Amino acid sequence: MSAPDRAATSGLDLGGRVALVTGASRGIGRAIAMLLAQRGAAVAVNYARGEAAANEVCAAITEAGGKAVAVGFDVGDEAAVDAGIKQVVDALGGLDILVNNAGVSIDALLMRARAEDFDTLVRTNLRGALLCAKAAARSLLKAKERGRIINLTSVVGEQGNAGQAMYAATKAGMIGLTKSLARELASRGITVNAVAPGFIDTDMTQAALQGDARTKLLAQIPMGRVGAPHEIAEAVAFLAAPAAAYITGHVLRVNGGLLI
Ligand code: NAP
Repeated sequence: MSAPDRAATSGLDLGGRVALVTGASRGIGRAIAMLLAQRGAAVAVNYARGEAAANEVCAAITEAGGKAVAVGFDVGDEAAVDAGIKQVVDALGGLDILVNNAGVSIDALLMRARAEDFDTLVRTNLRGALLCAKAAARSLLKAKERGRIINLTSVVGEQGNAGQAMYAATKAGMIGLTKSLARELASRGITVNAVAPGFIDTDMTQAALQGDARTKLLAQIPMGRVGAPHEIAEAVAFLAAPAAAYITGHVLRVNGGLLI
């Protein structure tokens, strides 16, 4: 039995659903978009600056027999988000699954923390997720029990990290957003969950995953390795699927045991 066939018979099938993945031009978002499409969803691939990269993701999905459109907007810009989500609904006929993945990281110890950097982090990581959820709400309500919001938080949002107070605060905020929206939308059949990656090999972690810093980090991870983007995508695809219909308000850790 092929992988899509197995998914179709196991409650993991996403056939007939429409998904929007923010920040899907590269990294974890790209892997999520590819896997949701492989499971049968039509996927809107959002990007901010990486139009060419987003088009490549769409081409890869289409070549594999799936359906995808690239939609560029800055998740922190309310008017752009409203227009972008309307574009998704018009192009793909609705919206069932919203994955709030777009994110940025700026690290600094407290004495060097700059208010303008904190504003940038909050704008993309937190305000972006709220704006997308709000703009998608009408479509998600129509989707009823197929409706899903999946937010990307982080291990540092739960345990903190020296030098990452600003970033960690936005990721902890994402957990509060997730749990509140889960309570608000549960009666409509819509589930809202978060996925909390540990350290994953992407552009975002390139600087932290070099040389001595990498060796020290690996020593803290019980599984002894960093994660791959597709391992986060598997968790998101599960939460998006019918198999996860009774799971809401949950933070699913995918971190090799870094935080247990
Ligand atoms: P990444 O490789 O740096 O990719 C970030 C993505 O977000 C890009 O597609 C980028 O789009 C998009 N983006 C940034 N600002 C945006 C904006 N204002 N509007 C729309 N899209 C925007 O990051 P990643 O490692 O894949 O991380 C993805 C998510 O997982 C983030 O929320 C991150 O905080 C979280 N996370 C990552 C790790 C990790 O170890 N990598 C761990 C925990 C949590 P463009 O390229 O088009 O600008």
